[in-house]
Amino acid sequence: MSAAAQPGHQPARAERLALAVSRQGGTCLWCGREFGALVPATTDHLVPRVKGGPSWPENEVAACRRCNGQRGHTTPADWYAECERRGWHPDAAALRAALDALDAAVSARGGQRRARPYLAAQRRRLARMRPADEPADRRGWQTPRP
Ligand SMILES: [Zn+2]
Repeated sequence: MSAAAQPGHQPARAERLALAVSRQGGTCLWCGREFGALVPATTDHLVPRVKGGPSWPENEVAACRRCNGQRGHTTPADWYAECERRGWHPDAAALRAALDALDAAVSARGGQRRARPYLAAQRRRLARMRPADEPADRRGWQTPRP
């Protein structure tokens, strides 16, 4: 049995990044650009480490260097809105799925007292948002009240 196959083994950073890229269909979560030699994938933390985000695979998404750098410590919901404002194509479904998976991991493992309220607020905000180019009745997005 290889080390990577052992239960509880934390995959190495590069391996985790490759998995995140594959989960996202090979594109940047934020701008939708396809990863490649000119657009290398980097590890972006949903809940930034400085905000108490854990160094778990569930807290990691793949972002291009530009998005990762420009996002900085901006919250996922704020950065998502900024990407839409710029006319990019952030993947709402992938972002919501990633936040849900992280929430499930936090619930299962406990702890993360700083990340919990941050994560809860982000999930609430994302649930209220919907992509500007998507009809309100698709994908279960809620329509904001007029
Ligand atoms: Zn990007």
